[in-house]
Amino acid sequence: MLNKSRLLTPGPTPLPEEVRLALAKDMVHHRKRDFVQVMERIQPGLKYLFGTAQQVLPLSCSGTGAMHAAVTNLFAPGEKVLVIEGGKFGERWREIAEAHGLVVTSLVFENGSAVAAEDVRAALAADSSLRGVLVQASETSTGVLHPVHELGAVTRDKDVLLVVDGISAVGISPCPMDAWGIDCLLTGSQKGLMLPPGLALLALSERAWDKVRAVGSTNFYFNLLAERDKSLGHQTLFTSPVNLLQGLAVSLDLFREQTLEAVYAKQWALTSMARAGAASMGLELLAKTHFTWGLTSIKIPLGVDGSEVLKVAAERCGVIMAGGQGELKKSLVRLGHMGHVDWSDVLAGLHALRVGLHAAGGYCAARTYMEDAVNAYEEGLRDGCPEIRA
Ligand SMILES: *Cc1c(COP(=O)(O)O)cnc(C)c1O
Repeated sequence: MLNKSRLLTPGPTPLPEEVRLALAKDMVHHRKRDFVQVMERIQPGLKYLFGTAQQVLPLSCSGTGAMHAAVTNLFAPGEKVLVIEGGKFGERWREIAEAHGLVVTSLVFENGSAVAAEDVRAALAADSSLRGVLVQASETSTGVLHPVHELGAVTRDKDVLLVVDGISAVGISPCPMDAWGIDCLLTGSQKGLMLPPGLALLALSERAWDKVRAVGSTNFYFNLLAERDKSLGHQTLFTSPVNLLQGLAVSLDLFREQTLEAVYAKQWALTSMARAGAASMGLELLAKTHFTWGLTSIKIPLGVDGSEVLKVAAERCGVIMAGGQGELKKSLVRLGHMGHVDWSDVLAGLHALRVGLHAAGGYCAARTYMEDAVNAYEEGLRDGCPEIRA
């Protein structure tokens, strides 16, 4: 083991030392005062992170559990929803909704493209019985960023709830729940939050809570009204994931110290860096215009086996990246740059990608990819994201 191991996947992500130390603490009892203090401490940080005045509920499950909780609490079987299916996780929305007996209309997008708000407006106009729009802020399987802000403008004055899987967006790129008119925002611990897997977080708008009351879910676990009552008393419904919440308290402190603006600026710069580096090697990027800020999806040239690239990158360079999902399994490398990751990790990722490509018989163009990547990083930090600047 000559190399440091670098986890550059779109979750789980590396953990800062402060968080790891917090996770190592001894147990406190989840119904006693010491734990109440942890819960009191996390709520303001969660509201800041989500951009909401609403209570943010911790749930003991992976991110998908929160997706399930959202669907089963917000909609009654038989109701109609519109699902934005731009990849594996959009497909998951549909599967969960169908399993709950919802009637699903899907807008399916080619790998690499984002939904247009106008298409959603048209779909809602064509069927006034649709009661929800289910979308990923960031579709992690393809690296596409959907225009949630614009979708909020479409749904906010209609009887339609905007339900956003923010698992690879919260703490990575802007997704302010209240300002954008999001009715349900959820995330998981192992992506932007720099925590191990196993904890999900979910918040609902005022009108979404009204809907939850009207639906009256019979869920025993994932009963959001019951969970909310407990949360207001600084507890969770069942035994809390105590260590994860202790870690979360520290992670949220880091966000507040650094400020979300600075974290987003860094994420933008890392994204610019990864894209420039890959482009400079002559590689094609899957998401052309609407790309997420926590991973970069890079196409592997035809005839080159992407899983071989990943294997060599891990063995020779110590860099763990992810392949594609589903049909993209061998033709895509997803270079994760979310969580506790900085410019030097992305540089290592790009180098490992190049070494892997070479070994797998792929052609790599420019020798200047490192310089190009670093320049793009500097530029990204200096100029920021054009949309945010505007
Ligand atoms: C990772 C991810 C999920 C799945 O979360 P689990 O924690 O594996 O259940 C769902 N949606 C998106 C957008 C993700 O990135």
